[in-house]
Amino acid sequence: GQVTTDMATLSREVEKFAEGKKMEIEALKMRDSYRKEFMGNISHELKTPLFTVQGYILTLLDGAMKDKTVRKKYLSRAAKGVERLIYIVNDLDMITRLETGELRLKKENFDVIEVVQNVFDLLEMKAAKKNITLIFDTDYEPVWVRADREKIQQVLTNLLVNSIKYGKHDGTTEVIIENFSKKRVVVRVTDNGEGIEKVHLPRLFERFYRVDKSGSRKEGGSGLGLAIVKHLIEAHKEKIFVESVPGLGSEFSFTLKKAKKPGGVTAETRVAQ
Ligand code: ADP
Repeated sequence: GQVTTDMATLSREVEKFAEGKKMEIEALKMRDSYRKEFMGNISHELKTPLFTVQGYILTLLDGAMKDKTVRKKYLSRAAKGVERLIYIVNDLDMITRLETGELRLKKENFDVIEVVQNVFDLLEMKAAKKNITLIFDTDYEPVWVRADREKIQQVLTNLLVNSIKYGKHDGTTEVIIENFSKKRVVVRVTDNGEGIEKVHLPRLFERFYRVDKSGSRKEGGSGLGLAIVKHLIEAHKEKIFVESVPGLGSEFSFTLKKAKKPGGVTAETRVAQ
């Protein structure tokens, strides 16, 4: 009796071990194909700006350098291309750190109104180029939230950059902050731009996913903006939503946890209803 029981236990153990190994191998294979896909996407994203920069440099070497105006124009375009490369590499760095769980949140209590205003100041010029009006009702009382201020500023920047990129000339982008629940506020970023077809919405936050491949590439993003936004909001254990009507515009919104002002008053009583 003793021996058979042991054999049975042993064989069960062996089976369990083998099963575990099989799963480990599957996980490794998945990680490997994920890595290969990621690397493929990265080289694809980097190629366009690299070839652009190379093009300008080669043309300059080919004789365009002699003319002062042409030289200046091509050099500044090459510099733009390099700037774009830096943006892409920064986004890649951020997404890698988010996906490997390396990024730590530094939570503090802050007034989210101030952050919206910071981002508006940073993007004013960009919006002006398309004559887009950035709207934010500044009559709000402070809205104290508890989150990583820098990361939330990044979220707002990415959403507002998109609303300008995909917004129409002479259009508007509005930021609204409202109560979401007793403990949360919701920040809405609304544009009256081109909008997004429903079929794309479920995949919109995937990295490198784009609605219109050629169109978006012309706009020069990394395809990582929304993936970063989603990661950052989820790292906060908050929620992100998107609603869109093609031809009319889009609204991206996310929640934040209310906090007490370092002095003591809760945000709830201070947010516009
Ligand atoms: P990209 O670098 O291409 O802008 P994102 O991850 O920021 O990458 O956005 C993914 C895609 O979602 C964009 O390529 C675009 O097609 C679509 N998109 C994002 N924001 C908007 C918006 N406000 N209006 C319309 N389309 C948008």
